[in-house]
Amino acid sequence: MRAVSAIALPLRRLTPASARQSSRRCFSSSQSVHATWGFIGLGRMGYPMARNLRAKIPVDDTLIIQDVNLEATKKFLQESPEGVIVADNVREVAEKSEAVITVLPEPHHVQGVYKAMLQPPSLLKEGSGKERIFIDCSTIDPTTSREVANAAHSSGQGKFVDAPMSGGVVGAQAGTLTFMIGAAPELVERATEILSMMGRRVLHLGEQGAGLHGKLANNYLLALNNIATAEAMNMGIQWGLDPKALAHMINISTGKCWPSEVNNPVPGVIEGSPASRGYEGGFGVALANKDLKLALRAAKDAGVKLSLGEHAKQLYDEVEADPNCKGKDFSVVYRYLGGKE
Ligand code: NAD
Repeated sequence: MRAVSAIALPLRRLTPASARQSSRRCFSSSQSVHATWGFIGLGRMGYPMARNLRAKIPVDDTLIIQDVNLEATKKFLQESPEGVIVADNVREVAEKSEAVITVLPEPHHVQGVYKAMLQPPSLLKEGSGKERIFIDCSTIDPTTSREVANAAHSSGQGKFVDAPMSGGVVGAQAGTLTFMIGAAPELVERATEILSMMGRRVLHLGEQGAGLHGKLANNYLLALNNIATAEAMNMGIQWGLDPKALAHMINISTGKCWPSEVNNPVPGVIEGSPASRGYEGGFGVALANKDLKLALRAAKDAGVKLSLGEHAKQLYDEVEADPNCKGKDFSVVYRYLGGKE
């Protein structure tokens, strides 16, 4: 694994001054010296990411945005009118941009958007200059991602990088996300330069698909740790232990993990945690379950044996369907188990 720090990299900085001097960055058929950046998917993550991107790219560059939700593009244009264009469709985004970032919910959205961008396979004729790079930050399965990458590469219309992220909405707003990327070595510097405008760390895990494999392995572990923490806390409290004392002991012992230390599922143990505010905000149980299912599918495709994943999925399905838990932070598993609140 190669960790690339946004600060330590000796990269060409995309300052307004360097942009004005550089003619290498042109892409549109008009041979303008200013670059156009594309962003598709202005949801909870994409919207603040695109805001950060717009703030960091040279002032004379253009950001072209697209979302099926017209309210999102309208709001974006109202909040950042300078140097922003709303495209009629995703094909237009691909035609005009030298770098396209996609942040979409599920595999079928990614498939559909890339199909629409890459068909007909004539993007190269419409653009010129620097090779187009597609960066998909969505959390999807590696198989779909590989298919999309192959479609881009085999048609010669651009290079594709998978760059799932962690850090949540708060990290997207603050520009402190961590990206895990899967990319050919020659793309890493350029992808890092772009992603560093929206995050703090870019970790290159290997060839295309590796970013998603890393992300899904991490989120599999997170999903299990979350259940185990809720069970262990519930067990200890039912035996009569004080919740804070129990959490403190675990967090200086071998059971320590992110759910026990940062996102403890018992209300009142950690001030400001989702559990302490009625399980609102945080990492939604539906998203946690989605990532778990993607990990299970990818493991099955690779013939990897998992012993706990199916049980965990069943539990999250039940939690998601429970009216007292639906839509809440995934630590609400503790409530589902009947934990004392
Ligand atoms: P979201 O549902 O809030 O946003 C997705 C956006 O994509 C929406 O605005 C939607 O209108 C748009 N969209 C859907 N289909 C489209 C299409 N065909 N063309 C253009 N736009 C389209 O989702 P989100 O929370 O922003 O998550 C996006 C991705 O990031 C997901 O894959 C998610 O798993 C991943 N992720 C989310 C978080 C989080 O905390 N929310 C954290 C890490 C990773």
